[in-house]
Amino acid sequence: MSVITTPAKETKAYSVLNRSLSVVIPVYNEQDNIEALCSRTISILNELGYPWEIIFIDDGSTDSSYNKLARVAAKHSNIKVVQFVRNYGQTAALAAGIDHAQGDIIIPMDADLQNDPIDIANLLAKLDEGYDVVSGWRKNRHDGFINRLLPSWLANKLISTISGVKLHDYGCSLKAYKREVIKQVKLYGEMHRFVPIYASWEGAKVTEIPVTHYARRFGKSKYGISRTFKVILDLLTVKFLSTYFTKPIYVFGMAGFSCLALACAAFAWMVILKYFYQTSFIETPLPILITMLLVVGIQFVLMGLLAEILMRTYHESQDKRIYKVKSALNTNTPV
Ligand code: UDP
Ligand code: MG
Repeated sequence: MSVITTPAKETKAYSVLNRSLSVVIPVYNEQDNIEALCSRTISILNELGYPWEIIFIDDGSTDSSYNKLARVAAKHSNIKVVQFVRNYGQTAALAAGIDHAQGDIIIPMDADLQNDPIDIANLLAKLDEGYDVVSGWRKNRHDGFINRLLPSWLANKLISTISGVKLHDYGCSLKAYKREVIKQVKLYGEMHRFVPIYASWEGAKVTEIPVTHYARRFGKSKYGISRTFKVILDLLTVKFLSTYFTKPIYVFGMAGFSCLALACAAFAWMVILKYFYQTSFIETPLPILITMLLVVGIQFVLMGLLAEILMRTYHESQDKRIYKVKSALNTNTPV
């Protein structure tokens, strides 16, 4: 571990486990929050008494965020700053932070002081109960109702139903992960909110605790309502990957067969119309409908076959396994 040990506190209030903390903070144009954020987080981490590091990811800020971060990093060698060449988004920033993190527990947090590092102690206490992931729940959330609370409530309900991982608030950045759980996860799109879901699918024990949430005081939120739609599309991908990644032909094939079945039904209806109701084929839109359904149906099946080839290439080219072994007796599991 290259993180610096803080002045030793003899009594560790929260655990007998020896562990180090990596707090990961994506920053995009947060110049007015940096100083207060650093001083509060540093003092709380020192209080906790574990070795710690903070990894700031400057996600292409165009204000003086980076200069401010650099100034803090000059004073504390366990404060690290990774600067992106441009703005890649919060998920990429988080991924970079995780890649650089060396601690045993990884704790993502926002830079805008909407989260409070004081909650870290509670997250750690919950990890000690045997969980691998503890997610923050902004039970008393201070954001706009129409543009935030309502879409977020709907999105959370949907995610929880589809994923089967029951949390109230996937979007809260403040979470705590055991290193081995989060290091395996690959992040794309706006998918950082789905990490607890991936982790749970991989067998991790996931829970949540209420955390404090404040209204933003300085700077603006980087998101609008369009995020909700992106999150729903990401959810679709996640669900597809989790359920059908190794058998895509089932999804495409089902869609294809449904179209072909509809085409047959439309054909039968067309014949009935002609012979029982004396309606000619071309008086109805049915011939066009049948042609379209046939073409689309066949395309779906062919796309499914393509997806099968892609999936095999993906696994075989990278030697990825389609299963994960928890433990093995008297035999070595190939890595
Ligand atoms: N953020 C980032 N890159 C972006 C957008 C946001 O690193 O492209 C950071 C931002 O600086 C903050 C966190 O992600 O630390 C959450 O962003 P924000 O507060 O705007 O989201 P909200 O709280 O409104 O959901
Ligand atoms: Mg915020």
